[in-house]
Amino acid sequence: MAEGLASRYKLLLVDLDGVVWRGSRLLEENIEWLREARRKGLRLVFVTNNSTRSRRLYAERLTRIMGFPVAVEDVVTSGYAVAALLREKYGRLRVLAVGEEGLVEELAGQGHLVYSAMDGARCPVDFVVVGLDRGLTYQKLRAAHDAVKRCGAKIAASNTDHVIPLERGDAPGAGAVLAALLASTGAEPVVVAGKPEPYMYEAAMRSVGVEPGEALAIGDRCDTDIEAARRAGIDSVLVLTGVAGERGERCPATYVARTLRELPL
Ligand SMILES: [Mg+2]
Repeated sequence: MAEGLASRYKLLLVDLDGVVWRGSRLLEENIEWLREARRKGLRLVFVTNNSTRSRRLYAERLTRIMGFPVAVEDVVTSGYAVAALLREKYGRLRVLAVGEEGLVEELAGQGHLVYSAMDGARCPVDFVVVGLDRGLTYQKLRAAHDAVKRCGAKIAASNTDHVIPLERGDAPGAGAVLAALLASTGAEPVVVAGKPEPYMYEAAMRSVGVEPGEALAIGDRCDTDIEAARRAGIDSVLVLTGVAGERGERCPATYVARTLRELPL
């Protein structure tokens, strides 16, 4: 890399967990580099598969952490993405949400009528929308099952990550919740919004108005962040501050860095 990234790209698509923070610990070296990238004129959009919080809450938290204003439009969560993708493809829907308030808020924000899985299945339901739900119960799973089997609802997923990284180790992710519903219903999701699907990157590029050649995705996971970049036709950075750890060498990322500070701006 003879020339700096700031002269080559216009938009950075920045993953959160493993890039900006790891669990509750801030990754200061990466954060300082991102501040510098912005000072050099790069536009930043934060893109996360985590659907548990809304874009609004992430924007508030990121504004505090980064020290510059991060708008709601500068954040793409898989909860927002699945809500927007359903709206684009099908219009406003009646949906049963298996997920946390971040998913529910984004679904309602796109004009969908949202039923809580806690209240059981009430036909008609167009879609069951599954995200990570750390309050998952058998009752909620059964409501989602009933919506599919009895009401003929289709299934949409925020993402299919089997695990989420914690400060130490990992825990079941949205894909694990989804797997339970697919096992009982025998159905398959007809919509998946999160990485490695390219939709979140494409939506961010569209809203900023840049071409794939002008965007650079930054993430810590080869199977999601880097694979989504490949599918979207954009360059990528695998940063080894998250789940990829030292296993970066087999990943087809454009660049691999121990921390973002290694990359010339
Ligand atoms: Mg990550």
